[in-house]
Order: sequence, then C-alpha cells, then structure tokens
Amino acid sequence: MFSKPLKEENDVPLTRYPLFINGAWVEPVEGSYFSSENPATGEAWYEAARATGPDVSAAISAAHAAFTTGPWSTTLPTERGRLLYRVADVLAAHAEELAEIEARDNGKLLREMRAQMRSLPDYFRFYAGLADKVRGDHIQGVAQNALNYTIREPLGVVVAITAWNSPLYLAAMKLAPALAMGNTVVVKPSEFTSAATLKVASYFTEAGFPPGVVNAISGRGREIGDQLVDDPRVAKIAFTGSTPVGRRIAARAGERLAKVSLELGGKSPSIVFPDADLDNVATGVVAGVFAAAGQMCTSGSRLFVHASVHDEVVARVVRRASAIRIGNPLESATELGPLVNGGQHAHVTACIAQGVAEGAKVAFGGARPSGFDRGWYLQPTVLTGVHNDMSVARTEIFGPVLSVIPFETEEEVVRLANDTEFGLAAGIWTSNLARAHRVAAALDAGIVWVNTYRNESAQSPFGGFKQSGLGKENGTEAVLEYSRLKSVWINYDEGGLADPFTYPG
Ligand code: NAD
Repeated sequence: MFSKPLKEENDVPLTRYPLFINGAWVEPVEGSYFSSENPATGEAWYEAARATGPDVSAAISAAHAAFTTGPWSTTLPTERGRLLYRVADVLAAHAEELAEIEARDNGKLLREMRAQMRSLPDYFRFYAGLADKVRGDHIQGVAQNALNYTIREPLGVVVAITAWNSPLYLAAMKLAPALAMGNTVVVKPSEFTSAATLKVASYFTEAGFPPGVVNAISGRGREIGDQLVDDPRVAKIAFTGSTPVGRRIAARAGERLAKVSLELGGKSPSIVFPDADLDNVATGVVAGVFAAAGQMCTSGSRLFVHASVHDEVVARVVRRASAIRIGNPLESATELGPLVNGGQHAHVTACIAQGVAEGAKVAFGGARPSGFDRGWYLQPTVLTGVHNDMSVARTEIFGPVLSVIPFETEEEVVRLANDTEFGLAAGIWTSNLARAHRVAAALDAGIVWVNTYRNESAQSPFGGFKQSGLGKENGTEAVLEYSRLKSVWINYDEGGLADPFTYPG
C-alpha cells in the first residue's frame, strides 16, 4: 500500500502516501510528492502525493459515478447507517495510531489528539443513527383531490476541504452527515497535515463502503482548490479554513450556484464579570487560548475583564501561563507544543510585535522560549493595555496570544464584544444567572459558553455568524445541510384537469 520507508525519524518511518481514489491507493498522475514536516523538530517525516488537475478530475469522477450509478445510489439509509457504525469501529481500533500521526503532523499535544480521536467514532455513530430518520413530509390539505409530499434527497458529490489544526475532526464533521444522507465525498486535507486523512479514507473501504463513495486527495489549495470548487459535478463544498479562502470559495461557488458551508476564522470574546469564580476563570481562559497553542478557531483570544477585577485576573492568568510546561507534544507532561510551521510562527510573532508597536504591554511571553532552538515554539503570551480597535484585537492570530481589554459596564462589553467582523464563539464568566442568559442572547456568536470554554459534541450545532461562516456542522441540522428538498404533487381527481388558463391553487 505505502512505498518503502525512506528515512527514520523518532522511530517513525518516513512513508509516502499516494492518493485514495475509487477504493484504491493510486499514484498521482504527474508522480509528484511534497514533504510534510514535524513542527516539533522542523524535519520532514513523510511525503504526500501532490495532486494535479487529472487527479482532481479522477477523484470527482469516482465520486460522481458512485453517486449516480454505483451500488451506493441504491443503498438504503439503514444500510448506510450500518456502514457508518462499522467505520466508527475501525476508527476506534486505530485511535492511538491516528492520534500520533496528527500530533506529529500539526504539533498539537498527543493527549489533545487522543481525546479527539476517542470522540471521533461518536461523530460517525451519531450520524449512523440518524441515517434512517431523515424524513420527508406529507403536506395536508393543500388542495382538493391532490396529494403533496416532500422528499429529502442527497445532493451528490460533496467536496470537503479542511484546515490543519484538527484534520480528522474537521473531516468527520463533514463526512459523517454527508454520508448518512447518501452523498459521496472527495476530501482534501491541508497540505500541512495530509497523512491521517488519506489513511482514514481507506478505512471506509475496509468498513465495506463501495468504491468511490469516499475519496481523498492531498495537494496544495492554491493549485487544485479552484478546480475542486468549479467542477460542475460538485454539488456542495464544505470548507473549514481561513476567512479569505472561505470567501473566495463562496464567490466561485456562487458563480454556478453550488451550495457551500463555511467554518472560518474567529476573534472570540471571553467576558469576565466581577461576580465570576476567578479560579475557574483562570483555568478557563488558559484552556481557551493556550490549549492547542491557541490554534483553535474558537480561541477566546480577546479577554474582556471588568475593571474591578482586571489586575487580579491578569495576575492569575499570568501565574498559570508562566507555569505552562512547554515541550515535545508527544510527551505526556507537555502542556504547550509548537505552532504548526515556520509561516505560522512568523505570523504570530509579527502580530505580537504589531500589538506592542500600537501600545500593548507584554505581561508575559512574547518570544521563543529559551532552550527551544529548533521547532516552531512560542511562549504563551499575555498582552495588556489592549483596546478593541488595535490590530491584536481585530486580526485572527491563531496562536497562544491573549489580549486583555478592561470594561466598566455590561452594555459596554456587549458592544465591544460584538464589535468585530467575526462571530464564532464567546465565553461568559459570571455567577449571575440572569446576566448569563441576557448576555448570551445579546452576543453575535454561534456558540456561547458560560463558566466553561471549548465544549463540543456531535449532538450540538457548531458554526459561526458574520465572517466566521455559513451553515452549521454537528447536530441533527447538519444532515439537512447535505440534502435538498423536493415537493411532489399528485392529482387524484377523477374528473380530470380543469380550465388550463385558471390558476389551480
Ligand atoms: P487555509 O484557509 O489556509 O486552508 C484551509 C484549506 O483550504 C486547506 O486545505 C488549503 O489547502 C485549502 N485552500 C487554500 N487555498 C484554497 C483555494 N483557493 N481554494 C480551495 N481551497 C484552498 O486555513 P488554514 O491555515 O489551514 O487553517 C487555519 C484557519 O482555519 C483559521 O482561520 C481558523 O480559524 C480556521 N478554522 C476554522 C474552524 C471552524 O470550525 N470555524 C476550525 C478550524 C480552523
């Protein structure tokens, strides 16, 4: 299946991952590969196929044939559910191996990726259970002697394009509902983290899915992205990534009225009211911005703190941040690993410098930690003296950088929290129940957490407002995002049709 190892690094063979198309591993037509580096060492550790136009076309053709003429087109929903349960079991059996691949690929903690991989099968099980519960409706009483009903149909070929920060998780959030609904999929992971997605595509064949139902191609977004979006056989593009790329995809898809769902960037506020439990706040704020080295779309990167507790909260967060154990993401004691690559490291460092140039103070961090000369490590960073109009409060940094902004009143903080182009998530820290509900309702955010941060579940809708995205993933609603609704009218009037020039009603 895979070519022979080229090199050993940390006892892991450097392998070559070809493309997975139509139920089989295939070499890219041009035979070209690119290497993927381990962010903890900066060294390449495997190669992934660099798909070009003919490969994209082959993957879409396979998915299209599977949808239109293959056995999948007549597979009943209950059987689709059974297959999804089976792939969940295969994923569960490979959870440890997949967690290691992901941690080596994106630099996130092995324990974080283990937890993700343990929950991954549940995403497939949730939608397995839903597969045969999608129903059309009978619309009663629409006309005399006529029956009107609706059919929920799959869309066809779905292209799933994902970011590097949680490759399999983001893919699962698309694959599971799309397949439950009867679509076929071509998934393209980020070029920085291709391995696990390519591997998992083959598990669908192992679980019994017909060839062509799930295809995976690795490649550079700027080289093959437009083709994936523009192909007229693609009915929907489900995308997770940056806002600029999301906008480009939506604009191109709009040209041919293809459906899109977009999970994009964020600049989420976390709001600390003076009546909050400050021990919880410190833990939650650290979890919200320093877990996964801040490489979370939902990162609570803007911390609004009531002026009366500002200094106390900053002191507690700095104390916790300064105790964070930085190190190799594969080691169990590590709390903060590296950023994904040199480009991201340079971007985050430049954002901090720009913040300082605009007047922010570095309360902690701001630089490469000492003793970490290789790999893309950065200290957890706390910036104080930030105003909501500074670049660090407006730009998505996607790194371990917290900007602290004081406020005086509830009305002021709701206005400031909503004064952003994004609308993905928000945190509220308070012991006042009425305030919690009031502020949750007032915030322009797709997900609001009260006295907690980062909870997610296959059962609960996930997705942002404004420039953070379009559509919802997870929850029962996500299945419908991969469906279209048809309305069917049946005339059963024995008397035949009436006057052709009168509206029948
Ligand atoms: P990115 O936009 O650079 O890349 C995402 C994917 O798009 C990759 O697979 C890439 O190859 C592909 N791509 C690039 N150019 C393309 C094009 N022209 N056409 C089609 N595809 C193209 O994002 P990234 O750096 O991989 O990920 C970080 C971003 O993802 C952050 O903004 C983060 O907030 C966002 N994100 C959002 C969520 C969410 O659920 N809202 C989750 C994770 C990450």
